[in-house]
Amino acid sequence: MKFSAFPVVRRLQEGVDAVLSLFFPGVCSVCGHTLVQGERFICTACLADFPFTDADFDGEQAVNERFGSGICPEALHTLFYYNRDSDYRKLIYSVKYYSNRRLGAYLGSMLAERMKGNCTADCLVPVPLHPRRERDRGFNQALEIARGMAPVLGMEICSDALVRVRDNVSQTGKSTAERHENVRNIFVLRRPERVAGRHVLLVDDVVTTGATVSSCMEALAAAGDVRFSVACLARVV
Ligand SMILES: [Zn+2]
Repeated sequence: MKFSAFPVVRRLQEGVDAVLSLFFPGVCSVCGHTLVQGERFICTACLADFPFTDADFDGEQAVNERFGSGICPEALHTLFYYNRDSDYRKLIYSVKYYSNRRLGAYLGSMLAERMKGNCTADCLVPVPLHPRRERDRGFNQALEIARGMAPVLGMEICSDALVRVRDNVSQTGKSTAERHENVRNIFVLRRPERVAGRHVLLVDDVVTTGATVSSCMEALAAAGDVRFSVACLARVV
């Protein structure tokens, strides 16, 4: 699809959503209440209490905590705080596991609106799923998020630059150092020419220790002269 076609597709999609919502209003992805006309995915009350991160990009401390020992991105952009006790965590479950592709793009566009004017990257690289996992799930949630961001930021998506070669890497119960070691070399650079000399904005759903994103950066850096920023919907507190 040509990049210039994105805004048209988005407007069509919004039109279809608006018509469908008249007949199937849907429920708020956070509190579960029925949505009213004009609301999409999240009700007005939940939007009013949305746990936005403090700034449109996270400060040096948040970046150093996660990336201090390896390649350090120039900025870490996040939309909201991920707290296991909060209903807003359901947004990430929905984006990841409940086949809610449009919610991913919607939250991606919210994140991009916050970042606009404060990001000098020139292409989006969604963190790849293993091809088998992507086939089973039917989509890659990071790519859906990037699709919501691309038209707002005016950037192209390079989803073919990187491929994931190992799946089922559980990070549960591991320390930060173990998590970084655990995901080392799970990504392989497939199209170096797509990212060489560019400022890449890596996109993922949630950032915890930054191990997965670090592994992506290490693989992409082999293309030569690559700069990095990172954008994730949620930051674990
Ligand atoms: Zn709600």
